[in-house]
Amino acid sequence: MRGTHKESGPDSAGRRRGEVSGNQTKRPISEGAEAELNKVYSVLNHGEVELVDYLGSDSTIARAARTSYQRSDGKTPDDDRRLIARLWRDRHTSPFEMVSLTFRIRLPIFVMRQHVRHRTASLNEWSFRYTECPELFYVPAEDDVRGQSKDNKQMSAGHLSPEDSALAIRLIAEINKDSFEKYKKLIEMGMAREQARVVLPVSAYTQIIWNMDMRNLLHYLSLRLAPDAQKEIREYAQIIAGIVGRGWPMIWDAYKAP
Ligand SMILES: Cc1cc2nc3c(=O)[nH]c(=O)nc-3n(C[C@H](O)[C@H](O)[C@H](O)COP(=O)(O)OP(=O)(O)OC[C@H]3O[C@@H](n4cnc5c(N)ncnc54)[C@H](O)[C@@H]3O)c2cc1C
Repeated sequence: MRGTHKESGPDSAGRRRGEVSGNQTKRPISEGAEAELNKVYSVLNHGEVELVDYLGSDSTIARAARTSYQRSDGKTPDDDRRLIARLWRDRHTSPFEMVSLTFRIRLPIFVMRQHVRHRTASLNEWSFRYTECPELFYVPAEDDVRGQSKDNKQMSAGHLSPEDSALAIRLIAEINKDSFEKYKKLIEMGMAREQARVVLPVSAYTQIIWNMDMRNLLHYLSLRLAPDAQKEIREYAQIIAGIVGRGWPMIWDAYKAP
């Protein structure tokens, strides 16, 4: 199921016992972002996206920008909205770096390789040296086995026939199963996890805690929501865009403005 969500369990990277909850903090919070915290969105066959923490609201950006002219008393949300729209339009982007979002993302390694190219993020990833790889592998949905584009070497176009789609899915599932069996066998033989993992395909899922400031996150979204981005990473970007839109509506409106 894509884009559906559930609340995360106690072992997620969200708030834990003893941590201060939103209504006790002195920091500015966003009601929309609070509502998004710890919602787990499903993507692809085993992927997940969850906002686990954030810093700053729409007004954080307006306040930071007003530092330029040392006047911020008596400003209303409408003033903030107009200022944020103007800042984005004028590409006065540094105040947007005052807000940051932290996600837990489970994604196949081939999507991770695209994701990790966004160097302005900070991240920490599952270690398959430290723990074993779980049996979670990407297999495309039946209606999403795409053909190779003839005019763009990097893109897909159209779909394979239902028969070829079924065969493609079977071949991928077989490889996934076979690789995992060999992986487990190597582990059972006593081989180090750091070496045994060489048999894992790029369809294996990994997981990251991924932090980015809003300015660079909007840049990520521009690149990864675009039609020329691979569909699989686009699905992740669409979920992240939805979270930004609901959590930081003034920023999102400014970003989406023509
Ligand atoms: C459709 C598509 C196809 C792609 N195809 C390929 C491919 O075939 N092969 C491939 O290797 N990659 C490919 N990429 C990855 C691409 O080259 C970028 O690495 C990736 O999109 C991250 O973009 P970025 O550098 O702007 O973002 P970030 O790394 O988040 O950086 C944000 C901004 O910070 C600045 N910045 C960051 N690092 C530096 C630096 N070292 N020097 C100067 N300024 C810096 C730049 O202004 C940059 O735009 C592709 C990306 C897309 C969207």
